[in-house]
Amino acid sequence: MKLKLTLLLVTIAMLCKAQPSKMEQLGKLYMSGNLKETINRADEYLEEEPENIDYILILGRALTDYGEYNKAIPHLKYTVENDPHNSWRKAWALGYLGSCYYMISEHEKSKKVLKDCVEFNATSNATNYATNRFLQFGYHKFFDDWTMIESDNFKFHFQKMDEMDAKSYADSREEAFIEINKFFNTELPKKIDFFVWDSRADAKMVLRAELGFANPFFCIIHSHFQQTRGHEMTHVISNFLEKEIVKTSLINEGTAVCFNLANQDKEAIVKKWLEKNEEEKIDIKAMWLYWQEYPQEISYPMAGIFVEQLIETFGKEKFLTFFVDQRYEHAKEVFGEEIDVIIQNLEDKFNQK
Ligand SMILES: [Zn+2]
Repeated sequence: MKLKLTLLLVTIAMLCKAQPSKMEQLGKLYMSGNLKETINRADEYLEEEPENIDYILILGRALTDYGEYNKAIPHLKYTVENDPHNSWRKAWALGYLGSCYYMISEHEKSKKVLKDCVEFNATSNATNYATNRFLQFGYHKFFDDWTMIESDNFKFHFQKMDEMDAKSYADSREEAFIEINKFFNTELPKKIDFFVWDSRADAKMVLRAELGFANPFFCIIHSHFQQTRGHEMTHVISNFLEKEIVKTSLINEGTAVCFNLANQDKEAIVKKWLEKNEEEKIDIKAMWLYWQEYPQEISYPMAGIFVEQLIETFGKEKFLTFFVDQRYEHAKEVFGEEIDVIIQNLEDKFNQK
């Protein structure tokens, strides 16, 4: 009997040890991207241990990612000031503070803490995070002589454009914004910072990335002056349909192509590509899953055609319901069996020789 009891106790002790700690659980939850749940759980744990700096940091980061910048700031500041080991915790708190201050237009503070994070150089991930933000937010001295124009929905930053052209560029983007947002009807947390580059080579040197791109979460666009009016803007506008959107490239890029306001003949582009690449066939579900494996010259127009077809068939409301979780499984839930018919018809249209 005594032996049995000892065995039982040993087993319980082992089970307890195998159980991840609260911190590990919270960290995992945060990494899984479930922000609301992370915030609730961190609040709950902090009631028991109000000074636990790990919980405080995760709460600050999750609130930032959830778009609650003013609520996040005190937790991040607390971490910066109280990290007992002056460790990676402080580095991440500085980086995230930089994001929060940027979103509430406290640019001097944002620039300073991002710089502090980079100089602190505690972990390469946090340093990269801060460096990327610093560059994308336009804090590099390279941007010092750029011209700025502010309109209802944008802050334009021009590398080189004369006043008249800049004005008409700004007007045309403002028009495009209104047209696109008639469809999505979202509210952005701030004006879009729209960086208009004259030179792709300069952008690559400063940003360490190819133009153009949007960072929708921060309402930022970096674009070459000749790029389409609507594509990157659509990424930003559509990002605020819900707090947490499950994105897939086929749908997200397809939507941006669909609203790029460029009047391209997408069908002709796809057909031409298929003529050139005789052994290839259009397989929409494969594209949905393995987007990266397709060359952009075919994946983008094809995605645009597909999204156009979805909107035309199911209408705006259903499409927007689907948009917040862009996986095939969710399409099936929202659109029913008909989604497969649409896919089949489109594939037949292009694959028939
Ligand atoms: Zn895009």
